[in-house]
Amino acid sequence: MSKKILITGGTGYIGSHTAVELIQKNYEVFLVDNFSNSHSSVLQGIKRITQIEPHFTKLELTDKQAVAEYFADHHDLDAVIHFAALKAVGESVEKPLLYYQNNLISLLHLLENMIEYQIPYLVFSSSCTVYGEPDKLPIKETAPIKPALSPYGNTKQISEEIIVDLTKAEDNFSAILLRYFNPIGAHPSGLIGELPIGIPNNLVPYITQTAAGIRDVLRIFGDDYDTPDGTCIRDYIHVVDLAKAHIAALERLINAENESNCEVFNIGTGRGHSVLEIVHTFEKVNHIKLNYIIDDRREGDVEKVWADNTKAQKILQWKPQFTIEDALRDAWQWEKNYRGIKT
Ligand code: UDP
Repeated sequence: MSKKILITGGTGYIGSHTAVELIQKNYEVFLVDNFSNSHSSVLQGIKRITQIEPHFTKLELTDKQAVAEYFADHHDLDAVIHFAALKAVGESVEKPLLYYQNNLISLLHLLENMIEYQIPYLVFSSSCTVYGEPDKLPIKETAPIKPALSPYGNTKQISEEIIVDLTKAEDNFSAILLRYFNPIGAHPSGLIGELPIGIPNNLVPYITQTAAGIRDVLRIFGDDYDTPDGTCIRDYIHVVDLAKAHIAALERLINAENESNCEVFNIGTGRGHSVLEIVHTFEKVNHIKLNYIIDDRREGDVEKVWADNTKAQKILQWKPQFTIEDALRDAWQWEKNYRGIKT
């Protein structure tokens, strides 16, 4: 019988791509989302790719009673992949309580019910923000955790600690924390992708919306960093590669191959690209001229980060398959499809 996997934030950017990969590996997938930063149309996209309609429930994870009722109805789940969270760094600085409330209370509700119903496996979305400005590159999982630069980053650090504590306290509960670098791109089918509500915070959706004429100009935040072209460097990973890392993590948990009850993996490509490299690669692969200007630095931006992903390669037997060119082509294909742009 196929295993039943709950994906919270299942209609979100990474959640929806992970749902597709799980369905294609014959898992039975249960999605929940509150649509705070996603659309119900994503469910149609998942169905068109996989020919299978995932189970979906609109659920507010901060609502204790609603979560309890959901789990009472779904107590035979085998594992949970927890994506649902608020993720806008700037907004978290302005509304810290909203971020602590949402990201931490949701996690607590989820964990309480996982323990109550003896659902033993959790894969958790963490972030490379936990490393802050790293002392050494590439960043290994053993690098020190730096004081968070934002309430959002702090919610990821605290969430990791809560999960670690719980895995220590419970014999029958294990978790894998995946520290993502910068997910970009879209499903190669062009049927699902990143769909930020309002003005995008992240670079690639801002680029695709500028190319689509929805935004006038892309602002590049600073060109006076200590990097070859002066712009910040990040490790950009194709969202399908990232989704596949979740399957690898899940299978490691299910097959009880993990030596400790809680493990952490960097999920990045191991290569850094500057903002200008991303802009120019986007222009090149899509034959588009992008309107951009150099602007001031954005507060809180780290100069350069990229992952050491050897632990994930070795232990999860996971390796990124897509290039940055693939990711930027897929991102534009998705934006065009979604907006009905023909070229
Ligand atoms: N960036 C930019 N203009 C934008 C959005 C982002 O120059 O409109 C830069 C940002 O300063 C950073 C990189 O793109 O160097 C990646 O930013 P993003 O917000 O996508 O991810 P982060 O690494 O901050 O989580």
